[in-house]
Amino acid sequence: MTRQPTLRTPASPVAQPSTSAPLPPTADHPDDKLRPQSLAEIIGQRAVAERLSVALHAARLRGEPLPHILFDGPPGLGKTTFATVLHNELGVDLAITSGAALDKKADILPFLTNAAEGSILFIDEIHRLPRTVEEFLYPVMEDFRVDIVLGEGLAARTINLPLKRFTIIGATTRSGMLSGPLRDRFHMHEHLEFYDVDDLARIITTNAAKLRVTIDPAAARELARRSRGTPRLANSRLRWVRDFALARANGHISQTIAADALDMQEIDTEGLDKQDRRYLDTLIRLFKGGPTGIDALSATLQIAVDTIEEEVEPYLLRRELIVRTPRGRKATPAAYTHLGLPQPEPEPSLPPFDQPRLFD
Ligand code: ADP
Repeated sequence: MTRQPTLRTPASPVAQPSTSAPLPPTADHPDDKLRPQSLAEIIGQRAVAERLSVALHAARLRGEPLPHILFDGPPGLGKTTFATVLHNELGVDLAITSGAALDKKADILPFLTNAAEGSILFIDEIHRLPRTVEEFLYPVMEDFRVDIVLGEGLAARTINLPLKRFTIIGATTRSGMLSGPLRDRFHMHEHLEFYDVDDLARIITTNAAKLRVTIDPAAARELARRSRGTPRLANSRLRWVRDFALARANGHISQTIAADALDMQEIDTEGLDKQDRRYLDTLIRLFKGGPTGIDALSATLQIAVDTIEEEVEPYLLRRELIVRTPRGRKATPAAYTHLGLPQPEPEPSLPPFDQPRLFD
């Protein structure tokens, strides 16, 4: 029987034991059904999985909680999955919250005081923690203690409240936004990379079986090539292709069916969607290929800077369709080729400067 994470919110801070009945997968959490439950089920990210397996083994042998772990990488690559898997492997409670939901110390306090020995607190989007909450976490992460200040001014007293020893797992799409002191308090830093086509094809084949749909190996590779190296996108595109196969054919996913279904969604052969192509098109046509600042791009595209930086650009950078320079984003020749546009004229070189020689 698979265990689902025990979800705690500040409003209902008491965790259910992890042996409680699994939550039924709901439409709000369609990913849950496909999420790997053990380290052995994790596909790809081999080096990360191996280091975590060492940490798990050592924690079990020492009878201690896991060290605090920070996962970073673009959305949909498996940060939550790894946290869930670690909780399953250890059979401990998991509480999940997000930096965006923790405005003040009182918001995070129930998570800390209710954490059971050895349990895991997963903080998604940890870069969004306000500075005061972040500083409140320092003694928690170092000494399993919260310092609460009572009263004000001269009458102020600090009470040290000891906590159970537990693990904080942080996830961020913007590790650069994390302060040095917070980053340093995590004992393990794991960066998740985009998946290659082989690994993504394996994830798609495994998940097709979970969704009870048959798929040809060539179709799994077609989908993998067109999923931006991202398992979450592979899952959602697989669901679409499954529906397409059901509506337009006999339900079996062949390569032609997969290609037709993705074409219909305007997902191109590189896996780029309409938003990606609009970004490249705007950069090339309107800004002459750049360099262009992110604010100008955001205003023109009417897409929030965060969305551009977290969701659109990482894959375009990885595919070397754009580069980041100190003066802004620049389209590479590969971007012109991808959109079928003529390459830009090379920048005119400056005429040689006739400098008088010093010792003639
Ligand atoms: P993140 O937290 O980084 O945004 P998730 O952990 O929610 O991403 O991953 C999204 C989905 O992708 C998961 O529900 C799971 O189905 C799939 N997935 C992610 N990583 C893996 C992996 N290594 N192996 C198999 N499936 C994965």
